[in-house]
Amino acid sequence: GLADRLQGTMQKIRGKGKVNEADVKEMMRDVRLALLEADVNFKVVKDFVKRVNERAVGQEVLKSLTPGQQVIKVVKEELTELMGGEQSKIAASSRPPTVIMMVGLQGAGKTTTTGKLANLLRKKYNRKPVLVAADIYRPAAIKQLETLGNQLSMPVFSLGDQVSPVEIARQAIEKAKEEHNDYVLIDTAGRLHVDENLMGELKNIKELTKPDEIFLVVDAMTGQDAVNVAQSFNEQLGLTGVVLTKLDGDTRGGAALSIRAVTDTPIKFVGMGEKLDAIEAFHPERMASRILGMGDVLTLIEKAQANVDEEKAKELEKKMRTATFTFDDFLDQLGQVRNMGPLDDIIKMLPGANKIKGIDNMSIDEKQIGHVEAIIRSMNKHEKENPEIINAGRRKRIAKGSGTSIQEVNRLLKQFDEMKKMMKQVTNMQKGKKKGGMKF
Ligand code: GDP
Ligand code: MG
Repeated sequence: GLADRLQGTMQKIRGKGKVNEADVKEMMRDVRLALLEADVNFKVVKDFVKRVNERAVGQEVLKSLTPGQQVIKVVKEELTELMGGEQSKIAASSRPPTVIMMVGLQGAGKTTTTGKLANLLRKKYNRKPVLVAADIYRPAAIKQLETLGNQLSMPVFSLGDQVSPVEIARQAIEKAKEEHNDYVLIDTAGRLHVDENLMGELKNIKELTKPDEIFLVVDAMTGQDAVNVAQSFNEQLGLTGVVLTKLDGDTRGGAALSIRAVTDTPIKFVGMGEKLDAIEAFHPERMASRILGMGDVLTLIEKAQANVDEEKAKELEKKMRTATFTFDDFLDQLGQVRNMGPLDDIIKMLPGANKIKGIDNMSIDEKQIGHVEAIIRSMNKHEKENPEIINAGRRKRIAKGSGTSIQEVNRLLKQFDEMKKMMKQVTNMQKGKKKGGMKF
């Protein structure tokens, strides 16, 4: 990924102490390749690299003490800018109902997103939406929307599959006015490819309903194709926003970059799963981090460097290699990690942490670490160096001495044992690799 590439280049540059224009050029070549690999549109990459280059060869970077990181910072800022900088909002008509037309290819997630949006509008903005079943072609499409409406206890307007979508839309808006529904979300039909007939129908619905928003729903997994789709829909219909779905999947999000740049249409929401609450407002900065694939790793590295004693780190590494790591070393490490700040913050900065469900609400029990420290402090020197001698009697004493429970002592001993085993395995693997005796 982009992060790996850049880190490799950064490593080289760090060793140099000074950075010149050639170094920056080399770095930018890496950035360029990585963006192309991440599925970013060719022309977008070209413009982007040019802009970053202009900033990167400037004083801002060359004179800084950490040029590698400075370049990444510039890259991240420019990526954010490319995706629209600030996030944009959803329209609210001064003469309700606000009409939103959902368009896109088959399977992109239109129907699901219609439900998610309605849910969001009610939950977050206290609105009263109605869902409109205007996909009369796909078998069971109407049923699918009705099921969603049921799940949400929200009205679904449908006239079956024998009335034209334009007429369905017209009547739905009439009814919404009577029922005081302030948002009308029209779920339209899709096709496997962009298709003239479909576009004609969508244009008719647009003409008649004069929608406040036309949201294109695109599947982020389709990468570069999503950009082409967005371009044709935009040319034909004039989009007001894009919803990028399936970002919970294994996608880098490169499509997000190009969509904004190619169509000049903002991404307004992202879909993060199949459930009805799996929708989020689009945050360009978060997406930039995702594309860089490194969470807030840079901050983390900086913090670690400021707090971890280099000598100690080397010593530790050696101990790990030789598997002579003791409880005293463990205690030492805990202390160093603690110096970096509250554990919650540190964990959230780890790459991939944003994918962990509920991480924002998570709080690491600092008390638990306190317990671990207390347990280790209650061991004597002999025990710390030879944990295998800690029998039932000793466990009881340690638990008592540390003010914890025997279960907690047991757990720690077990974890420590597993950790040592793992270190041994890694060490053996590395030995094997050096001898060339082991293949991966
Ligand atoms: P439509 O043909 O455009 O109406 O697409 P649907 O709404 O029927 O969705 C197609 C499939 O994609 C369904 O199985 C959805 O559950 C799934 N889907 C939609 N949005 C997301 C998303 O954000 N993440 C994941 N993982 N699946 C999604
Ligand atoms: Mg559908």
